Amino acid sequence: MNNLVIYRKYRPQNFSDVVGQEHIVRTLTNALKMGRVAHAYLFTGPRGTGKTTVARLLAKAVNCLSRPSGVEKEKKKGFEPCNRCPACQEINQGRSLDLIEIDAASNRGIDEIRELRDGIKFSPSKLQYKVFIIDEVHQLTKEAFNALLKTLEEPPAHAIFILATTEIHKVPQTIISRCQKFDFRKVPLDKIIGRLNWLAEQEKVKIEPEALELIALNGDGSIRDSESLLGQVMSMEDENITLKEVQDILGVIDISAVGKLIDFLADKKSGEAIAHINQIANEGYDLVQYAKSLVNYLRKMLMLKIDPNLAKLTAAELTKEQIDGIIRQGEKFSPVALIKTIHLFIEAANEVKRADFPQLPLELAIVECCQSN
Ligand SMILES: [Zn+2]
Repeated sequence: MNNLVIYRKYRPQNFSDVVGQEHIVRTLTNALKMGRVAHAYLFTGPRGTGKTTVARLLAKAVNCLSRPSGVEKEKKKGFEPCNRCPACQEINQGRSLDLIEIDAASNRGIDEIRELRDGIKFSPSKLQYKVFIIDEVHQLTKEAFNALLKTLEEPPAHAIFILATTEIHKVPQTIISRCQKFDFRKVPLDKIIGRLNWLAEQEKVKIEPEALELIALNGDGSIRDSESLLGQVMSMEDENITLKEVQDILGVIDISAVGKLIDFLADKKSGEAIAHINQIANEGYDLVQYAKSLVNYLRKMLMLKIDPNLAKLTAAELTKEQIDGIIRQGEKFSPVALIKTIHLFIEAANEVKRADFPQLPLELAIVECCQSN
């Protein structure tokens, strides 16, 4: 099974199926219910958090023939596309000529945008609105942005633009100010686990809860990455998938392996810490990945030490128990010692990549960390 098969097969057909991003779904579906449609939207946020999924749902919803034309007060929920009318079906089957998707990563140039500008004058072939989804819009050249801006300044009544980007700082302010902007966030761990659980059920595959959690952790808040990892794991065609198998496939360090090292550091047990690193390396784990996980973990510890309320921002993908565990560990370090430890391991993480003995930079950092303070 191809890794993206699962992701595509179960792509949400309704706004209510979108995982996370409740704030965006609520605003959009309420606006649709009131008959309010903007001509330009800008979806920004990390990869795999649902930007193009929501863009396609929006394209379908604005064209759905059961769309209400004015205020509808009785129903509490926002508007959902019906998925039954000809417009919905045409879009669901991917054969609508009025939904145009452009990947700016591969079509960076002015020619494509000029073509778009010329094409936009023509009315939609069948649907009410012609919808242009421009993915990775920050990749456009300066000339292409200028051409796009001209179009956004005077969009024809039948056109809607949905721009998506992972790097908002590369999008010119003049473009941003013409769009209704929506910030997509990393999806919290429990939501990703819930989704993966549901997918596994649909595919009739049994997976240990710890294994699902590890997959979700690796997805790092990205639904697409998490689902594609699940697809990779499922491609073993094993009916009972264990944590060990997932660890082997992903070649990753689960958070407890990183936590263990931090315990040794807190207690200044340099011998045990070095033995731990070597054991990890001998088991075939990638030390570059390990060092990265370590720095990421220390960062979370620092943030939680400053203010436990930062958990929502910096550790949304962790469980409550994991967050509490990190807070308790953090109490063993003085702020100065923790900052120094982070500096030491950032440097070590950079050196692991090009070291002849990848353990060595980590071992040095361990010794230095345990000697001082
Ligand atoms: Zn419909």
